[in-house]
Amino acid sequence: MIKFDAVSKNYPNGTTAVDALSLELAEGGITVLVGPSGCGKTTTLRMVNRMVEPSAGTVSLRGRDIREVAAPELRRGIGYVIQHAGLFPHRTILDNVATVPLLLGWGRKKARKRAAELLELVGLPATMAKRYPYQLSGGQQQRVGVARALGADPPVLLMDEPFSAVDPIVRGELQAEFLRLQKELHKTIVFVTHDIDEAIKLGDNIAVFRTGGRLAQFDTPERLLAHPADDFVAGFVGQDRGIRRLSFVQASGLPLREGPVLPVTASVAAARALDEPWVLAVDAARRPLGWAAVAGLPVGGTLADVQLAPLGHTFSLAGDSARAALDAALLSPSRLAVGVDAEGAVAGVADAYELSAAMTETTTVTPATADTPATADAAVAPGATPGAAEAGEPAGEPGEPGEPGNRPVDGGAGAGGPRVTGPAGAKGGEGR
Ligand code: ADP
Repeated sequence: MIKFDAVSKNYPNGTTAVDALSLELAEGGITVLVGPSGCGKTTTLRMVNRMVEPSAGTVSLRGRDIREVAAPELRRGIGYVIQHAGLFPHRTILDNVATVPLLLGWGRKKARKRAAELLELVGLPATMAKRYPYQLSGGQQQRVGVARALGADPPVLLMDEPFSAVDPIVRGELQAEFLRLQKELHKTIVFVTHDIDEAIKLGDNIAVFRTGGRLAQFDTPERLLAHPADDFVAGFVGQDRGIRRLSFVQASGLPLREGPVLPVTASVAAARALDEPWVLAVDAARRPLGWAAVAGLPVGGTLADVQLAPLGHTFSLAGDSARAALDAALLSPSRLAVGVDAEGAVAGVADAYELSAAMTETTTVTPATADTPATADAAVAPGATPGAAEAGEPAGEPGEPGEPGNRPVDGGAGAGGPRVTGPAGAKGGEGR
């Protein structure tokens, strides 16, 4: 869809901002450009809409060299979102969003109607339409920025650190909302960030740049975590990549055992008879109520008479990841993770050791296929085109953890911050 072919950008002062970049971005996906400051991400992004012209090489869009397209025409099909939203301060929110439709000659009434629809799409109440940018929070302004970029319904969106200027909670909300929107809109998105966690959370594919404008690795988030191409990428991805990678493994495949589970109406004697240090009390629908420490049980009575220790958290076999399951085990007073089904009923338990053994089996990728990450030369969207094989990339191997898609399965609940589940109910949790 968007292809960089041996593209370089050199500035007259001798800076090489981008160095011989070859990269092919899939249609309808989110490609994240990530790397340390000054490594050429923004320059790369801006070469797509001709805000920056390459010194060498070719950028093409849907097979057409973009130099053959007049810049204004090109930009009509490319939305652009930047940090701090870049709104016109003297125009109302509605008129900011109506900018592009107006430029396209839609007429004021139709343009404003479209703007109102877009504000609703990005989750802003109609009451905001008449305000001015300074009357909105940073997060709200950023939503307006996205709405404005979508004005002419462009197939391509370029986003340059769009969520970097807002606080972490708002940022999480914007990211979740962004993934929800993308599920609906299927734009081809190029997204620049310096934050690897954001890249892993949002990207279908990630291009890691190193200083000097060179591509270090182009891969799916999961493969980036599993098989960084070199020490630079490994360092950039971070030390806890083993744990973070579990966000891409579904909990549904994890082996659970029945475990010490009893109805809360069961007698203390029955609990003791299980000969386990902890017993999980459940209600009539097998929903978990809490853990009873067997050593502290009274002489008689039922579990209903006992002060139960809180569960920590359970994990859902229907929607959570292996990371959430492992976290549930680590936080549980009994050290047993409690897996629940879609109704919230206990499906079984497992400890961290049992879980990690199963996870190792699930996440092991044989070296023959795994240690060939796509790197600088002719990197093609991993798993996206038949050409991927040429770049040494096994395109979406069967049995790859995390399929379908590359987004973390869930929020890794409790492991790395607030759990965020997109309204569409699936992808896009906190993936760290
Ligand atoms: P990033 O987005 O990764 O932070 P940029 O693409 O903005 O990096 O910049 C890449 C390099 O090019 C940096 O060293 C930057 O200083 C340099 N650069 C960017 N724009 C210009 C310019 N107009 N003139 C000279 N150097 C520039």
